[in-house]
Amino acid sequence: MSKILIVEDESTIADLERDYLELSGFNVEVASDGQAGLEKSLSEEYDLIILDLMLPEVDGFEICRQVRAKKNTPIIMVSAKKDDIDKIRGLGLGADDYMTKPFSPSELVARVKAHLARYERLVGSAVEENKVIEIRGIKIDITARRVWINGEEKSFTTKEFDLLTFLASHPNHVYTKDELFSEIWDMESIGDIATVTVHIKKIREKIEFDTSKPQYIETIWGVGYRFKV
Ligand code: CA
Repeated sequence: MSKILIVEDESTIADLERDYLELSGFNVEVASDGQAGLEKSLSEEYDLIILDLMLPEVDGFEICRQVRAKKNTPIIMVSAKKDDIDKIRGLGLGADDYMTKPFSPSELVARVKAHLARYERLVGSAVEENKVIEIRGIKIDITARRVWINGEEKSFTTKEFDLLTFLASHPNHVYTKDELFSEIWDMESIGDIATVTVHIKKIREKIEFDTSKPQYIETIWGVGYRFKV
């Protein structure tokens, strides 16, 4: 349920706004002066703020400026004076919308819904999807560093995971043990190319149905390995 903060010092207006928004299914809080509005805006998470311009203690300009410095919460600014609306537009404080009082509560609800939907789209599109490789029953979530074989999750050590992911990211490319060692282990690592052989063996035990007939990581005799597709 979306949470909305109304910062409004005229209680009749605040009550009307709250009633309509609650009837539309929103969770509403009211701050009746500028100081309380500023504190709530900064310390709590709201999905949208309806901000009156003329307020005792701290005015709407200042609240908008301070909230914008820290958060992207949509803000609808309201004022009784059309001139004030023009002024705040000109100041570029970062409010998302402006309404002149008196307005119909249903108009307010419509605008609130529109801004919430718009913000959700913005935030939603900013969320990156995990990078995933899926090849014949093996699924590697590179971002989450998790691996599933035919739907069953298997655990891998860091180097096993890195080696498997590297090979699977370059399907059908044959790598020598030297190349794999320098790719996965850093220069200071103690070990040699035998380390690669050991890790390949461990990975196969986890991903192959029959390790004597590997279906994923193939040995190219005298050369190295490749992830077969
Ligand atoms: Ca006021």
